Amino acid sequence: MLALYSVVLPLGHPLTAFMSTHYFAMKNFDPDWANYHTSNPGMTSLKGVYHLAWIMDRLTIYFRDAQRGVQARCPDPMEIIDHIKLRKVWEPYLSPTFATKYKLAGMVKFYGGTIPRTSGDTVTTDMTTLTPGTGVPLVGPPSTIVTDTQTITTGNTKVDNNAFNSTLFGIYKTTAVKSADLRKKIKLGTLEKLPTSRLGADLEMCLAWHTKGICNSNCPRKADHITYTATEYTPMVNWCRDHGYKPE
Ligand SMILES: [Zn+2]
Repeated sequence: MLALYSVVLPLGHPLTAFMSTHYFAMKNFDPDWANYHTSNPGMTSLKGVYHLAWIMDRLTIYFRDAQRGVQARCPDPMEIIDHIKLRKVWEPYLSPTFATKYKLAGMVKFYGGTIPRTSGDTVTTDMTTLTPGTGVPLVGPPSTIVTDTQTITTGNTKVDNNAFNSTLFGIYKTTAVKSADLRKKIKLGTLEKLPTSRLGADLEMCLAWHTKGICNSNCPRKADHITYTATEYTPMVNWCRDHGYKPE
């Protein structure tokens, strides 16, 4: 999926960043995606379908807005994970037409799932009953779907970390030591490497984003421009104290 969008979309396209962050986040989601059960456990065999429908909806909205000349907003790559953590339903509503077209009833049955019952309490394989109550329509009004407020820009622009943790990193933000200079030292091998992103071992944390509260839209580590909890920040706090911003 990620490779596909990297080929189709031009380099630096905002959706490439979205796909990249989303891919890392889902891959490293804990408890992992493979063991995750959908809100309706009987529909877990369809989680891949829900996931694709979720991506499809967001891309549809994005391209529709772009086509209309409306300022297109990038989808939130962490939305599914945030919903799961908040115990909220994230699975999109799959219309009866969609379900019939892709023979979803057969899939659920094959994997031993339970088709939701009708109000008459009769088990049925008629896909018209496949309507999770709190899902969003496959194609609905933008207000129900577009939740992120990240504005799309084509050039390299400054991006602010609105969730900057000033308690942990406030002293580093105001220090004269520049994160770019620290990065140079890391590159030269004279300074310890940065901690790994919570999105996975293939990605390192973005020093500027987390410790200065500001970075840029073309940052190679922009997938890590996300919010961390204080606990998740422990490796970065230690790195800053023991290596990067250590007093001479
Ligand atoms: Zn960055």
